[in-house]
Amino acid sequence: MDALPLGVFVRCPRDHEDFKTSLQAVERFGVHTIHLGAPRSQLGRSMAGRWRKMLTDRGIRVTAVFCGFDGNNYQTRQTARETVGLSPAATRAQRLAETLEMADFAHALGCDVIGMHLGSLPAEMQSLDYQNVAAALRCASDHCAQLGQSIHLETGAESAPMLLEFLRHVGQANIAVNFDPANFILYGTGDPMVALDLLATHVRSVHCKDACRIRVPGQPWHEDCALGSGDVGIERFVRELLRIGYRGPLTIERECSADWETDVAKSIQLLDRLLA
Ligand code: MG
Repeated sequence: MDALPLGVFVRCPRDHEDFKTSLQAVERFGVHTIHLGAPRSQLGRSMAGRWRKMLTDRGIRVTAVFCGFDGNNYQTRQTARETVGLSPAATRAQRLAETLEMADFAHALGCDVIGMHLGSLPAEMQSLDYQNVAAALRCASDHCAQLGQSIHLETGAESAPMLLEFLRHVGQANIAVNFDPANFILYGTGDPMVALDLLATHVRSVHCKDACRIRVPGQPWHEDCALGSGDVGIERFVRELLRIGYRGPLTIERECSADWETDVAKSIQLLDRLLA
């Protein structure tokens, strides 16, 4: 694989037609790697064989399948803390079971990485809740290891030192980091460049996403902005990735846009320029 191939985050397909439409957009962008949101339903996940062939025919490689769950609510930081990932105790067992199914889906798709927003970690390492989140993640990582897969944890919901401490605590060789610089700005969990330096040896995939610290009135906190127009400092981000020896895909993630395709196309031009 080329060093630093460009890619795009493709949202969880609603159905087969939706997946086909997304792949057509990826082809228009001229990129050959994607992160793919895992379908929520078993029916959706049963499409893996058919979708794998479509991907192969188009020369597109899924470099990570991202697990998401019904009930994840990113409307406010508070709802995100309460609802996202494996962190909430009430839904943990059910979501762990779904995570294993999503790993199986990724495997059937020929993908050796699943990514996830773990959710907000409990503050106290000694707490039962912290231990239970770690145990759930170990269970998922054991399942993934049997399939030859790694799990990449999305950054930003907690500070880099907290995530680092958690990674050491869990202590599984196949757990790494998907570094999303914009999330540190959105969640207010630290300077993304300092975080990158701290997590450097764990970073195995990245999201090229931007965000502004200053919100305009009425703007939801989770809303990102077009790559290069926010406070991440994309030029420096790419430079720092090269400095720490990262050579994996640069996957563009644009979450909230009225003109997703134009924004992604411009992001590709920007990254091409920075890499030239
Ligand atoms: Mg992300």
